[in-house]
Amino acid sequence: MEIGKIGIVGAGQMGNGIAHVSAMAGYDVILNDMSDDRLEKALKTIEKNTARQVASGKISEADRDAAMARISTTPNITDLGVADLIIESATEDEAVKRKIFTSLVPAIGADTVLASNTSSISITRLASITDRPERFIGIHFMNPVPVMELVEIIRGIATEDDTFEVAKAYVARIGKTSAVAEDFPAFMVNRILLPMINEAVYTLYEGVGSVEAIDTAMKLGANHPMGPLQLADFIGLDTCLSVMQVLYDGLADSKYRPCPLLVKYVEAGWLGRKTNRGFYDYRGETPVPTR
Ligand code: NAD
Repeated sequence: MEIGKIGIVGAGQMGNGIAHVSAMAGYDVILNDMSDDRLEKALKTIEKNTARQVASGKISEADRDAAMARISTTPNITDLGVADLIIESATEDEAVKRKIFTSLVPAIGADTVLASNTSSISITRLASITDRPERFIGIHFMNPVPVMELVEIIRGIATEDDTFEVAKAYVARIGKTSAVAEDFPAFMVNRILLPMINEAVYTLYEGVGSVEAIDTAMKLGANHPMGPLQLADFIGLDTCLSVMQVLYDGLADSKYRPCPLLVKYVEAGWLGRKTNRGFYDYRGETPVPTR
């Protein structure tokens, strides 16, 4: 099946990145969110990010202009009916996603492929909301989308080979590498990464090392580009906690229990970079460890 038009639901930080890389790869893109304000903000972000790529010589001005011209926006989800592949990238809330798929189904063609960029919700369960579990798949991007090379492709229990081939071809055309995961809690990257971050928080909680010592240990001792606590602040501590909860509930294994110190930071509203405070305090010139 030839995919020409990509529909995207949700124009937040992930949705605008997906629109950006899809348009750069030559797809027509139709981007949906709940209000014109949000759509305008998303277009501004894509303009800014593509301008940065032009400035650094990664893409030409002409290619950028052509890509921007391929993106249209709409606050009406049913306008996405013209798309061949629709990628849902709205708020990580099952009730929200349920509503989105319920409104999409009557508006789309029989062959349209539906995908979700969810980080943690079961693809099989989301697929079961629709009339086409066999044409439903997980396409899980990494943040920031224009920079990160990996995309996880997750097959639900009913996903057909054709649908899988559509997803694989799309990921290859946007110049990214796919890794195929079965539909189990948190898929692969987050299943491996988040328990490591949670263990770093336990290491802090038990007083084995300070924030600085733990991050230095993993940067220089394991050759990681960022320490695990610095990375947790970048991801958002609320997101880290919610992935650990999904692993703990979904796999019913005590090894995934979220560290009480992580819970405490989230309860305090110290969510990392987005709130200016997490394992580091970002309010000054340089980040200062908070423990
Ligand atoms: P975000 O909060 O930046 O954006 C979500 C957008 O969805 C908002 O603009 C919101 O207005 C919109 N939205 C909510 N309900 C809607 C509806 N009914 N119709 C249309 N739009 C609606 O969130 P995000 O970080 O972009 O995450 C989006 C998805 O991507 C989530 O499923 C998340 O799990 C997944 N994801 C996030 C990351 C990450 O690091 N942030 C990484 C991979 C995947």
